[in-house]
Amino acid sequence: MPLPASLLFSSVLLAAANTATPTVVAADGILCDLTRTLVGNQANVICLIKPGTDPHSMALRPADRQTLAKAKIVLLNGYNLTPALNKIRTPGTVVKVGNIAVPNNSAKDPHIWHDPANVIAMANTVASSLKPLFDANGDAAIDQRRAKADRVLASLGSWIGQQVATVPENQRVVVTGHRTYDFLAKRYGVRELPVLDDYTTGGTLRPSSLSAISKSIKASGSKAIFPESLPPSKTMRRISRSSGVPIAKQVPFGDGQAPGKSLVQTATSNVCIFVNAQGGSCDQESASQLQKRWSAI
Ligand SMILES: [Zn+2]
Repeated sequence: MPLPASLLFSSVLLAAANTATPTVVAADGILCDLTRTLVGNQANVICLIKPGTDPHSMALRPADRQTLAKAKIVLLNGYNLTPALNKIRTPGTVVKVGNIAVPNNSAKDPHIWHDPANVIAMANTVASSLKPLFDANGDAAIDQRRAKADRVLASLGSWIGQQVATVPENQRVVVTGHRTYDFLAKRYGVRELPVLDDYTTGGTLRPSSLSAISKSIKASGSKAIFPESLPPSKTMRRISRSSGVPIAKQVPFGDGQAPGKSLVQTATSNVCIFVNAQGGSCDQESASQLQKRWSAI
């Protein structure tokens, strides 16, 4: 017996809904590029935070709320990188990728991606979060891309070590305002000196803290100070004048993806800026090779 027309029609609609490209929100940190790389064209990936934006102080726009309302999955960096995302409304599954991928993080530092080993763990978590959206073929395609991404990220991990090794040992220090590169510092034997976190409360610079900061910067052996952005804040300029250590001419972007750069390019550019400023020499050619492999995934 043929199916009644109405039933046939509704099952066609249902099939269409199931095969429609799902919307995935990759909110912050380096998740935009990581998720797009892993999912290919299987999902419509919307990146909430524009590369180069400060996630710590961003506010949601009405358009972001509309995006969240149609998401099947919302991937967050986690560890409170973007406080504005703590109270989002979405029908989709919310995944705090960092908290799952890097559970061993006693300081709850959100800047976990500065160690590529953590990005490999994040890729794993993103891949498993995406799988319920697809059939076996879709899942296999994600796994293939994840395996390729893992290999590039492992190479990036060794590459960073090779670049840091070109910096004289007593200059392997990164002077910042706020703690950002702790994961990079720990893995590669670099000291991070987050002067505002270490010597001020809420960033207010008292004369006594200015003198303590200057002393510690001079003693650190650093040849440059890396503010969060350029032009540097008044506070960082005062610290530079008082310590006699110049502000770096280029600054790394530590809060996610840099504008116009992939996560691999952001990492290599950050490392090159640091290494070159501290008396080492960064291998740009091998950095471009890594990016070629990454964009070929
Ligand atoms: Zn930050």
